[in-house]
Amino acid sequence: MPEYVLLDNLVTALNIGVVIVDRERRVRLWNHFMEMHSGHTAAWIKGRDLCEVFPELPQDWFSAKLRSVAYTRQAAFSSWTERPWLFRFDNPHQVTGGPKSMYQDCTFLPLAGPEDERVEHICVTVMDVTDTAVYQQQLQDAQARLLEMSIRDPLTGISNRRHLEECLATEYQRARRYELPLSVIMFDIDHFKRINDTFGHQAGDDVIRRVAGIAEAQRRTPDTLGRYGGEEFTLVLPETGLEGAHAAAHRLCDTIAETAIPASSETIHTTVSVGVAALDTGDDSHDKLLDRADAALYEAKSMGRNSVVVARPAE
Ligand code: GH3
Ligand code: MG
Ligand code: MG
Repeated sequence: MPEYVLLDNLVTALNIGVVIVDRERRVRLWNHFMEMHSGHTAAWIKGRDLCEVFPELPQDWFSAKLRSVAYTRQAAFSSWTERPWLFRFDNPHQVTGGPKSMYQDCTFLPLAGPEDERVEHICVTVMDVTDTAVYQQQLQDAQARLLEMSIRDPLTGISNRRHLEECLATEYQRARRYELPLSVIMFDIDHFKRINDTFGHQAGDDVIRRVAGIAEAQRRTPDTLGRYGGEEFTLVLPETGLEGAHAAAHRLCDTIAETAIPASSETIHTTVSVGVAALDTGDDSHDKLLDRADAALYEAKSMGRNSVVVARPAE
């Protein structure tokens, strides 16, 4: 069998698209893969301008690619990560929810012997990489979900303690470097044990969720709200001085006291005690600032609860 017949059979049987075009983008070779996915036979497409048959091809980009491959005699690539597809073919592996179109990695190869002065033909290969793209997307989604889980408290959806402490440490550094104000509010539900004992643990969970929801709704965008312990919460307020933090703490305390919380089949009223601390020169770490807010919170408890106490200055 002559060599070119063998090669022709090989190109036909390949499970990737093989197209040969001339410098005017006219098709010279169109293999079986391309026939199957485009619906155009080789006999019909030969001699036609590829960009006229496929108006979705980015004409300027495609022509520039052909020119540069012909001029440099170097292969060029087009990855699905930058350009999902060159030819809009249906995704042949489509399952429910999968992408509609086939993702493609494409290669542009100059076709010329060492004797040839000019590269007259360019071979474009089209590889179906839909599966890779789908798996990569699923992996990215899973990583995003894991990241989200690692920073969220599962009961309330607000930040967990570790993430909150990281945010506070970052904000502390920023406040120190740029001499910005920074405040912390800590609050704890009053007599929460009684709620659990009277209405049950499930109702207690509902109360924790609702209190977190109220604080979350009042939070400004740059602030971070976290669940610090069982029914204890912390709010970090960047670029906020004592006056602003004090006002926010009162608003929170009042709103919680006024809210009727539906929990299980009951309506529960609860209150919180709140400690507020603003960064001062004596705070030599973010922990110190947090400790002062915590001490103020326990002062609010000892003063009878449902109140806001401002922390003593750092020593
Ligand atoms: P105080 O006014 O002094 O804060 O009184 P308190 O009853 O709230 O006191 P304390 O902070 O000691 O009690 C907290 C209780 O919260 C103890 C614990 O059983 C309960 N708790 C902690 N985490 C959860 C939770 O996720 N769900 C529920 N339902 N209860 C929790
Ligand atoms: Mg409590
Ligand atoms: Mg507590």
